[in-house]
Amino acid sequence: MMVEKDHAGKLGQSPVKVMTECRACGGRKLERVLDLGEQPLANSFLPGRDLERELEEELFFPLEVHSCAGCGLLQLIHVVSPEVLFRDYIYVSTTSDTLQRHFADMARQLTDLHGLGPRSLVVEIASNDGLLLKKFRDIGVRGIGVEPAVNIAAMAREAGLEVVNEFFSSNVAASVRSTHGPADLIVGNNVFAHVNDLADFLGGIERLLGPEGGISLEFPYVRDLIEHREYDTIYHEHLSYFSVAVVAKLFARHGLVVRDVERVPIHGGSIRVHGKKAGSSGRESDRLRRLLAEEEEMGLNTLEFQRGFAGEVESTKAKLLSLLRGLKAEGKRIVGYGAPAKGNTQLNYCGIGVDILDYTVDKSPLKQGKLTPGMHLRVHPAEKLLEDRPDHVLIIAWNFADEIMSQQRAYRDRGGRFIIPIPEPRIV
Ligand code: ZN
Repeated sequence: MMVEKDHAGKLGQSPVKVMTECRACGGRKLERVLDLGEQPLANSFLPGRDLERELEEELFFPLEVHSCAGCGLLQLIHVVSPEVLFRDYIYVSTTSDTLQRHFADMARQLTDLHGLGPRSLVVEIASNDGLLLKKFRDIGVRGIGVEPAVNIAAMAREAGLEVVNEFFSSNVAASVRSTHGPADLIVGNNVFAHVNDLADFLGGIERLLGPEGGISLEFPYVRDLIEHREYDTIYHEHLSYFSVAVVAKLFARHGLVVRDVERVPIHGGSIRVHGKKAGSSGRESDRLRRLLAEEEEMGLNTLEFQRGFAGEVESTKAKLLSLLRGLKAEGKRIVGYGAPAKGNTQLNYCGIGVDILDYTVDKSPLKQGKLTPGMHLRVHPAEKLLEDRPDHVLIIAWNFADEIMSQQRAYRDRGGRFIIPIPEPRIV
């Protein structure tokens, strides 16, 4: 590993490291597959209070996806310090109805699967504002969260949840175990892809887990990313884009075993991997074997397959820009819907700024009034759509398109039109 000095910024020390080894297998042959350019951090919204200073201090980092010749893992090699990325984090899961349902279902499923009860201990890594832990509490299962973001951990504590305000690591795992005993279930939703030191992370899970305890990790599936051209799910926080094959090998290296895997539609296509300790009871499921065989057959972990994806991303960008510019040429007013982190990859990669979108709207009060990183669109409350009635709305948060369009029926009934940008830009 080496430190790149070009991006020292104004933080006094470099917030970015450049990896020279694969984080899954340690292989040294990494090839660049997709270059999304220099991008700001996807969650670094500008407060917009002292704009001149904020623009001057805004940091940009290379966003490049590389493929490991050893194991096929698609990964970022520019690693922004987690202290910069996650200590003050504005993603709050409870703002979405879809996620409320998703986590309620997950708590029930995992409780049944692992036979959890009032005496069981669930540890959730990256517990966010405590949505899943609340769902466990609703059905009588005790849970502890580990959450590094100071502001969001505080929100969970206000809701009466127990939260360790740290990044999960082997040391944190040992400390939780000595205080609370071994875990019957360790859950991590949308955290595994964020982890740079996978050995320490998986080592911590192995250490904290009881002999028959379960692991449930959910993260975006690289197959969905590629098949549906979801390049906007690539941003500095997501260091790894996992296949089932890569995860299975990685687990095995750390005394763990994958037993089952489910495909779930959340975040544009994710997988939920169910694991246990190596040598525990149970066996691997048929659908795990089937998914591994499918990956092998399609060549998911090969450079050739991954390169085809990069070409499709470039073509999607060209089509979207041509659609938006055509509408502007006709004198149409366009605004955005959503200010998700992923939206900023798309806006910055395509160069969609205030010359195309007047502003964007979002339901999260934490984002309202701020400016999106890089492209600097002002974020307004969703109610503004109906007052303002622009001609078109680009659904930046395209994975919630159905929910958004049904909530905004009144806007649509008065003649408003929606644009869905991915996988193929289209007006609906
Ligand atoms: Zn590798």
